[in-house]
Amino acid sequence: MELYKLGIKEAQDLIAKGEVTSTDLVKAVADRYRAKNGEIGAYLTFDEEAALKLAAANPTAVPVAIKDLINVAGQPCTCASKILKGYVSPYDATVVRNLKANGFIPCGRVNMDEFAMGSSTENSGLGVTRNPYDLTRVPGGSSGGSAAAVGGDLCLAALGTDTGGSIRQPASFCNCVGVKPSYGRVSRFGVTAFASSLDQVGPMTKTVEDAAILLKALAGHDEMDGTTPDEPVPDYAAELPRATLKGLKVGLPKEYFNVAGLDPEVKRITDAAVAACAAAGAEITEVSLPHTEYAMAVYYIIAPAEASANLARFDGVRYGHRSAAAKDVYSLYVKSRAEGFGPEVKRRIIMGTYVLSSGYYDAYYGRAQKVRTLITRDFDAAFGQVDVLLTPCAPTPAFRLGELQDPLTMYLNDLFTIPSALAGVCAASVPAGFTRAGLPVGVQFIGGAFREATLLKACKAFEDCVGTRDTLHKTEETK
Ligand code: GLN
Repeated sequence: MELYKLGIKEAQDLIAKGEVTSTDLVKAVADRYRAKNGEIGAYLTFDEEAALKLAAANPTAVPVAIKDLINVAGQPCTCASKILKGYVSPYDATVVRNLKANGFIPCGRVNMDEFAMGSSTENSGLGVTRNPYDLTRVPGGSSGGSAAAVGGDLCLAALGTDTGGSIRQPASFCNCVGVKPSYGRVSRFGVTAFASSLDQVGPMTKTVEDAAILLKALAGHDEMDGTTPDEPVPDYAAELPRATLKGLKVGLPKEYFNVAGLDPEVKRITDAAVAACAAAGAEITEVSLPHTEYAMAVYYIIAPAEASANLARFDGVRYGHRSAAAKDVYSLYVKSRAEGFGPEVKRRIIMGTYVLSSGYYDAYYGRAQKVRTLITRDFDAAFGQVDVLLTPCAPTPAFRLGELQDPLTMYLNDLFTIPSALAGVCAASVPAGFTRAGLPVGVQFIGGAFREATLLKACKAFEDCVGTRDTLHKTEETK
């Protein structure tokens, strides 16, 4: 049996039957890493010895690949940036502690856009990741290593992070399920901050059930992250057998359809997803999120503003790279940062510093915050009418490596994922079909804040209806 192909639930069932152990799973993933990572580049590092040690101590645990901005004690944590090359984490992030306490172990560090800024993983300062479905194409980003690892069966499941779409867009590009939990559902303690009012950690998996199992393990109150309320975490997976599209109120936000730049094949697959839901008894209605057109502008003020503040800590003094050419403290800061950060990170820091500077703060940052409130109210109103929203996830399938040279074109990838991030609601990408060229495409379901149980049930019912990533891919191959 090819153990690396398993998902979480399948692995847990085999462990329960006594047919495999955690050690078998880690070894299978390590072999697969050696066979395939040279081609796909999903992992930056893979410490088999450390994973085997954890597996020996916990023989029923399932290995999970970790995005390289989440701290695991004793492992590198570079955020795919040269500025953190050589940095080793002194402690476990809360999500990693939660994993270990709930039958999972961290296994390997996966690539990403530097500090999670990007949509293709091409901004990684440490290596190229390729789409497992077409090696000439990107895996998406910023959680591109996570998506390529899951999509290419280089792991059983992975953790990603999503600030404006970084779990959902790569999941769509690589035929995975990706869930961005509601803001506050999962602790960020020990997760390198990009934009603190937006960042969330979430599961990237092979099935919806796996995402439900992994999210349950990750979620909950953490006294080390003041944004996590003390709300009970439902047993998401236990509710899935009751999932049905029959009578589910599904809203189609009209601003997300008939958008210039929406690829015709993505449109075809999204329309087919809507038709499948309707045929299965969902009540489809059109809704409006009237402030959608401002979301992109708001995000590219708020996210860089927060990033410019968060990234001030990388100054050559406390962490990572320190310039050898520094002569005094000022040149130490300037040269270490100039040498360590890549171009996109510098662009964000410059934009963020500008919008926060005195004289411009009210005009940019202050106004963006107000418009963000209007966007949040749009979602509140929509969830007064419907249970979930269904939309395209990304405007195109995976594009070619090097194809998008202009930063603005790259930013447009997140057109459909940014508004829900700003509103702090939960959302997921679920495999929905393949283009004629054989590229996977996901659709996005969006749920209300802390309504992950409803969201996951909708995703599961959809998956039951159209097929899982495996069956969708097999159908594709026999065409
Ligand atoms: N692509 C978006 C950006 O570059 C979102 C990134 C993310 O969600 N981390 O900011």
